[in-house]
Amino acid sequence: MADVFADLVGQDEAVATLRHAAASAAALLRAAAVPAARPAGPTIGAGSGDSYDELDALAEEFDAEPIPGAGPPGGPGAAAGGDPGAGMTHAWIFTGPPGSGRSVAARAFAAALQCVHGTGCGECPGCHTTLAGTHADVRLVVPEGLSIGVGEMRALVLRAASTPSGGRWQIVIIEDADRLTEAAGNALLKAVEEPPPRTVFLLCAPSTHPDDISVTIRSRCRVVPLRQPPAGAVAEVLVRRDGIAPDVAEWAAAAAQGHVGRARRLARDPEARQRRDAVLAVPRRLTGVGAAFDAASALIEAAEAEAAAAVAEIDEAERAALQTALGAGGTGRGAAGAMRGAAGQLKDLEKRQKSRATRAQRDALDRALVDLAGFYRDALAVALRAPVAPVHTDTAALAEAGAQKWDAEGALRRLEAVLECRAAIEANVKPRIAVEAMMLALWKG
Ligand SMILES: [Zn+2]
Repeated sequence: MADVFADLVGQDEAVATLRHAAASAAALLRAAAVPAARPAGPTIGAGSGDSYDELDALAEEFDAEPIPGAGPPGGPGAAAGGDPGAGMTHAWIFTGPPGSGRSVAARAFAAALQCVHGTGCGECPGCHTTLAGTHADVRLVVPEGLSIGVGEMRALVLRAASTPSGGRWQIVIIEDADRLTEAAGNALLKAVEEPPPRTVFLLCAPSTHPDDISVTIRSRCRVVPLRQPPAGAVAEVLVRRDGIAPDVAEWAAAAAQGHVGRARRLARDPEARQRRDAVLAVPRRLTGVGAAFDAASALIEAAEAEAAAAVAEIDEAERAALQTALGAGGTGRGAAGAMRGAAGQLKDLEKRQKSRATRAQRDALDRALVDLAGFYRDALAVALRAPVAPVHTDTAALAEAGAQKWDAEGALRRLEAVLECRAAIEANVKPRIAVEAMMLALWKG
């Protein structure tokens, strides 16, 4: 039962959509393969006779499924034939709040498309290699810096146009598609507008707001909205999949506010717990202007330290690999030219690493702000006597004290100050300035 969709927590609707689409996609492949299943047909193994039988048998199995359009899938064409809600299409956007599982959903869908059974069984080589990131026809773009550039996108689009080597689909997954530069977005748009017959683009973005994804790209894609999974569902998966004790899983799931990856980290990583404790100690410490500035410095420095630790290892490994690749010096005739090339490559690498470090800092700071917002949200809930479970069960007493002192209005103002700080940093305000302003607002109320 543990197929490729098993880790998509609390997303029944999206999973149903994706299963259906994968079945339609498999039916399309079979429809295309059967008339052409002579030597040149899509092959499974070397014996073309065997592969014909296998595809044929699978086709019978799925004959009950409506096949949207019998020919090769066209973007608009596929949607036009048969049931538009069930068909396969070339471009998809997975949207949802951070931690809802956008990239998990995209990868699972990619696996289902490459699955030799067309279902995402989780056992076959197609499923395995896709989930492991080693499938030859699945390319994953994970931006390390603040944006995905046009060069990267062009190269990707070019490769995505080639015939899938495994005979199924050529898939490109773009995580954080909201971080595409405008030029990169245009390069992608061209490919999405006229997709090669066997190419599928899977984009992940927080929302379909024009700030996140251009209207023209959006209009070419089918949207799969994911919701913030309920804490109960997150706790369940931590227990089932990661073997975490039920009480720890419940606490972590609530504290992570529906973010599955964050919940797992809190449950497993003592350092992540310590960082969270330090953040949740902030409201208690805000006793004056000086304390507010101190708290701001502490928060920024903690984020910097966390980010530095996160990227240090990979930075060093990359530098070592590049130096090895370039060789240490050399005296041949080409050596001078090689040296010039090496300097350029090293510079490129440093630029990439710097961009990645900035991104890691922002992510760390944002996690801290989300924790802090959870605390003021708890205080607000208490002040309003709202019948909702607290985010941070371990600071519930502190939130109650805050609610008494500030009332609902004061708690709301503080919650807004945290959210404004997040928005300001997202809009490129210098983090220290935004955090200082927030701390003063949290102190004054
Ligand atoms: Zn499979």
